[in-house]
Order: sequence, then C-alpha cells, then structure tokens
Amino acid sequence: MKRLLVLGGGTAGTMVVNRLRSRLARDQWQITVVEQRETHYYQPGYLFIPFGTYAPREVTKPVRRFIPHGVDLVRGEIERVEPGTNTVTLVDGTELGYDQLVIATGTTPRPDQTPGMQGGEWRKSIHDFYTFEGAVALGEKLKTWRGGRLVVHIVDMPIKCPVAPLEFTFLADSYFRDKGVRDQVELVYVTPLSGAFTKPVASKHLGGMLEERNVTVEPDFIVERIDPDAKVLVGYDEREVPFDLLVTVPLNMGADFVARSGLGDELNYVKVDKHTLLSTQYDNIFAIGDASNIPASKAGSVAHFSVDIFTHNFMRHIKGLSMDEEFDGHANCFVESGDGKGLLIDFNYETEPLTGKYPLPGVGPFNLLGESKVNHWGKLMFRWIYWHVLLRGRPIPLPARMSMAGKNVPDDQFVASGR
Ligand SMILES: Cc1cc2nc3c(=O)[nH]c(=O)nc-3n(C[C@H](O)[C@H](O)[C@H](O)COP(=O)(O)OP(=O)(O)OC[C@H]3O[C@@H](n4cnc5c(N)ncnc54)[C@H](O)[C@@H]3O)c2cc1C
Repeated sequence: MKRLLVLGGGTAGTMVVNRLRSRLARDQWQITVVEQRETHYYQPGYLFIPFGTYAPREVTKPVRRFIPHGVDLVRGEIERVEPGTNTVTLVDGTELGYDQLVIATGTTPRPDQTPGMQGGEWRKSIHDFYTFEGAVALGEKLKTWRGGRLVVHIVDMPIKCPVAPLEFTFLADSYFRDKGVRDQVELVYVTPLSGAFTKPVASKHLGGMLEERNVTVEPDFIVERIDPDAKVLVGYDEREVPFDLLVTVPLNMGADFVARSGLGDELNYVKVDKHTLLSTQYDNIFAIGDASNIPASKAGSVAHFSVDIFTHNFMRHIKGLSMDEEFDGHANCFVESGDGKGLLIDFNYETEPLTGKYPLPGVGPFNLLGESKVNHWGKLMFRWIYWHVLLRGRPIPLPARMSMAGKNVPDDQFVASGR
C-alpha cells in the first residue's frame, strides 16, 4: 500500500481528499488527513458575524462530515515533518509515514507578533474578525458601542482574503447608517499598502469607494507597536493613529511546524513551484491553499482552482509522468460593498482585476469591479456552494484557469501584452 498523507482538514485539505479518494485505487493507496480541530469553519462568514447577518452557528459544521469514506481522519496537532525519513510527528508523539505528502495547514492570524496588541485592551477596544472567536466578540462589542473613531487596520501583507478589511469597512459604513449613528462614527482605514488594494485598477475603484463613504485612508503605515493605554497605533515612521475601537488584521503566518521542518520562508509559507505546487526541495511534498508561498491571493477560490490543476498533475506525478498543467494563480472574490450590493474581482498572476462581466461575456450575471445586487446574492449563495459542492470535491462549471472573455482590457495592457 502507498500512503498519501494530507496535513490540515480545512478548505484545501478537505477538497484534496475528496478529489483523490475517488481517483486513487483503494487497494493501492491509503489516504490519511490530520486535523487539529473538530469543527470546520466557513471563514468567509466571519465578515458577516459582527453585523449580525450570520449567527455564529451558521458558519460551523463538524470536520468529519466532509471527510469521505475510505479516508482516515487523525485528530492531532502536527509537530514536525521529517522529509529525510518521510515521517510526520504529532505533538502527542504519534508518527505517521508517507509516500506523498500534501501540506494544507493554511495561515493563521498572529496577534502575538505585534507588541501591545494582546495587552489589556484585547477584545475590549482592540478586536479582530479573522477568527471565529474574534468575529463573535466583535459582534457583541458593536451591539453596545456608542460611536467614536473606528480604525480598520492591516498589519502586513499577505493576508487571507485581502479584500475582507475593505468589505468590513464598507459594511461598517452601511451598518452605522442603518442605525442612524453614522455621523457619530469616524471611519479610518490604515494599510501598509500605498492604496486600497494590491493591484492598480482595483485599488483605484476601491479607493474611490472609500472616499465616497467618507472613510479616511492612512496609507503606507507599518505598525511598530500598539499602545493600549493611550489607544494609539505607533508606526515605524513614528506616525501615531489614535482609535476608540480598533479592528485589526494581525500578521498572518503559516504554521510553526513548517519552519521547524525547514520547509518555509520567513512567514512559514511552504516554498513551492507556483505552477505545480510541488515543493522546491522535495519531489514528494506539495503545498495547497494558504499554506504555500505562491504569489496568488490567499483565498478559498484559489485553493479550489489550484486543486483542479493539482489533481490532474498529481495523478501523472505518481506514475512518473511530467506534470503537464500549470496553475495560473486564478482568484475570484466577491467584495461586499454594503446596502445589499457587492462587486466581483477575477484575476491571476499576470492579469490584474479588470472591469467587465463574469462568467458569460456581455451577459454576466456578475459585474466585474462594478457594484450590483446580483453580486451580493452571489456572495451569500457561495456559503451553500461551499458546504455542498466545493468541499465535497464536486465539479462546478467554471474553468480553473482565468479567462479574458468578458474583461475590458485597458489600452496600455493591450500594448504591453501584445493582445
Ligand atoms: C474574514 C475572512 C473572509 C474570507 N473571505 C473569503 C472570500 O470571500 N472568498 C474566498 O475565496 N476566501 C475567503 N477567505 C479565505 C479562505 O477562508 C481561506 O483562503 C481558505 O479557507 C484557505 O484554505 P486552507 O485549506 O488553505 O486553510 P484553512 O481552511 O484555514 O485550513 C487549514 C487547516 O489546517 C489546520 N491546521 C493548521 N495547523 C495545524 C497543525 N499544526 N496541526 C493540525 N492541524 C493544523 C487548521 O486547524 C485548519 O483546519 C476569507 C478568510 C477570512 C478569515
């Protein structure tokens, strides 16, 4: 028997075992997945919990429910990978051998990495919404908050779902307007980037939307520490940003065991080839989803599109054949913009988010980089698709590789790419 070991039973790991169990012969391949938690969290839902749109129970289900028959689920925390002996050790001392290893342990917010963040004001006037517990605590806080200076803040990139802090800001604007207290709330967006988003066309659109909503942007801000008593963010350039309520996205990092195993970069992301997701060091280790260092967005959509390509390539790789499909960094995210509307962005390694229609050129129904109610419904529908289609490894009729059909290409890009 050959052994496939998958580390992490979140979005990517669950999709991988579902896809591969039906493809790998049961009398030849044993599949095991290791996961530290009993609960699977639908993380895009964390955005809606603080505003009461989703109840906490609507974003959780048991991990086991999504692991197919014929896959062993081991509950435990991974301590180390030893690539020399093809062994993984868990914190409780259990040793698991493998022939092929897939690392899908994601990325985790690390408030411990910014001095002062977890001081006396953590979960009082300093909150996050990137964890289940954080989103629930922030929801409680917002119910009774009387207004003041609300600062939405990103420590550093990359973060998972890089549009989520913008969405939070748009939704906060809409939430306080609905409550009739918008004039008592000063909204400030503090980012390490020089604009609202990582890519120029989207940054211009999304930055304009912040301006329309009367949100002050504090760009190029690299936080050095937080003074919880004075309630200020202090930057490396000595700028100070005061807050009454801080909603921060802490530094995101890959799992510590990745560093202990000598497989990671400086943020513990597994070093892989960006087209095949194969480790640059070992030819029987892959990393999928947020755990890898590919220069794509850290998003569930990226995990999904890359699993499509990975599955095809993996089946060839184990037969000694070349991996003949390349992942192009395809990402596809709905962006909530408040008042029951949203945008959609679709991009990859080479092409930034552009305006247009998706998935059918000229028809949509989704608007690229344009607000619509249909986009908002798309975002809400996504939760059902996640639980019932994506996680279970069922196909959806969208190509894994990004398509230019329906996109409006700016003139300068025609020249640059020769298209
Ligand atoms: C607020 C928010 C909004 C988002 N919105 C969107 C969106 O709109 N669209 C979108 O596409 N994506 C969105 N995302 C991102 C999306 O949720 C992630 O990109 C996706 O879940 C990544 O999947 P993954 O399998 O790589 O990691 P995860 O799903 O996080 O899974 C990693 C798993 O590994 C386990 N693990 C980690 N370390 C260990 C260890 N040492 N031992 C054992 N187990 C371990 C964890 O418990 C976890 O279950 C959002 C994320 C957040 C936080």
